[in-house]
Amino acid sequence: MARQTPLRAIRGMHDLLPDESARWQQLEDCARAVLERYGYKEMRTPLVEQSELFKRSIGEVTDIVEKEMYSFEDRGGDQLSLRPEGTASCVRAAIEHGLLDQPRRIWYRGPMFRRERPQRGRYRQFHQIGVEVFGLAGPDIDLEVILLTRRLWSALGLTQLRLEINSLGDRAERAAYRDQLVAYLRQYQDRLDDDSRRRLETNPLRVLDSKNPDLAELIAEAPSLTEALGSESRAHFETLCAGLEQAGVAYQINPRLVRGLDYYNRSVFEWITDALGAQGTVCAGGRYDGLVEQLGGRATPAVGFALGIERLLELSQMPPPPSADAYLIAVGEQATAAAIPIAEQIRDALPQLRLLCHCGGGSFKSQFKRADRSGAKVALVLGDDELAEQRIGIKPLRGADGDDPQAKAEQISVSIDALADRLRNFL
Ligand code: ATP
Ligand code: MG
Repeated sequence: MARQTPLRAIRGMHDLLPDESARWQQLEDCARAVLERYGYKEMRTPLVEQSELFKRSIGEVTDIVEKEMYSFEDRGGDQLSLRPEGTASCVRAAIEHGLLDQPRRIWYRGPMFRRERPQRGRYRQFHQIGVEVFGLAGPDIDLEVILLTRRLWSALGLTQLRLEINSLGDRAERAAYRDQLVAYLRQYQDRLDDDSRRRLETNPLRVLDSKNPDLAELIAEAPSLTEALGSESRAHFETLCAGLEQAGVAYQINPRLVRGLDYYNRSVFEWITDALGAQGTVCAGGRYDGLVEQLGGRATPAVGFALGIERLLELSQMPPPPSADAYLIAVGEQATAAAIPIAEQIRDALPQLRLLCHCGGGSFKSQFKRADRSGAKVALVLGDDELAEQRIGIKPLRGADGDDPQAKAEQISVSIDALADRLRNFL
């Protein structure tokens, strides 16, 4: 048969290869630990939802719904979409399962799908960790959510992130501001690009979110939403700012920060870095008090954020952990036959140990090479002679760099019964 052309992954969608997965797991474990310390519980929802859910939550005139969703009709004629973000699904599930009876802190993780132009930090399948808090309306929880993200950055050893915040006010305040903004932008209609001109009619606040550098000056001069806030929104925002100051969180108020999704109100924030080029926002969130009602639930205040795992990993300098602690080598007929049962014994005795057992035979030399490449700290060495005496060798592999592994610290011989105790000293 003629050799087939191999198929490739879809553009903008990436395989997570075995050598990279340890860093992902490290980040996810770290995030999970921090989230649990704040009382969050994980929720998992389907990757596919009715398209209608995203139209109603994210908004018809957003980039995501207008041009980025993977939508299709299934064989039964239902209009479905791969989820482009997590909040809509969380709200849908919270309503559906009656989770809104009391305050809840929920987190999620997983892939999201948007058909954007692939580039550094921007993919068509990407991964987020996010939180949603339901049933709490005050600036105290907004503050706690931001402090949680700060704790996460320090747990991950990230220092280059800066916080921008803004308040979008409530619906009435935004409507009033919208009129001001439209009047302002109309004066400069011919300087706007096509997208912004269209947005001016459909969703003018989104013009402020434009990434077109030619519009930067125009946007900077636009009337400020902050001025349009009423006294309650203002007080909410000021309490949040005071809380951040008291907690020693540096922040910048960015009055142009409007977020790409329609559902936000009041507090919004982004954590941004300059180290990733144009795709500098690693985490974005805010309050969305109207969304639950908009999706058919009882009016419930809510706040949340989502962070991009790929962007965070690109920033993170954490070295990947080695994949094994010990590597069991066996040469000789009896020793080879005994290796797997002995490896099981060792695993029973040392539940934390990551033990690779050599399979497939070969000389000591070739097996030592494998052991060294595995990243293990020690090789456990079993020959027929050792086995006859119920002994096993322990050979440290991590000495001076670059030399022959067999030339490193001396191999010692211990009885198999004592191995677990002796091994602890090497790890
Ligand atoms: P951007 O301004 O970069 O387009 P966004 O406002 O569309 O981001 P959100 O929907 O708020 O992003 O998603 C939260 C986070 O998810 C972003 O800050 C980013 O870290 C990550 N993210 C969003 N879209 C992508 C993507 N296409 N590829 C990789 N990460 C993404
Ligand atoms: Mg986007």
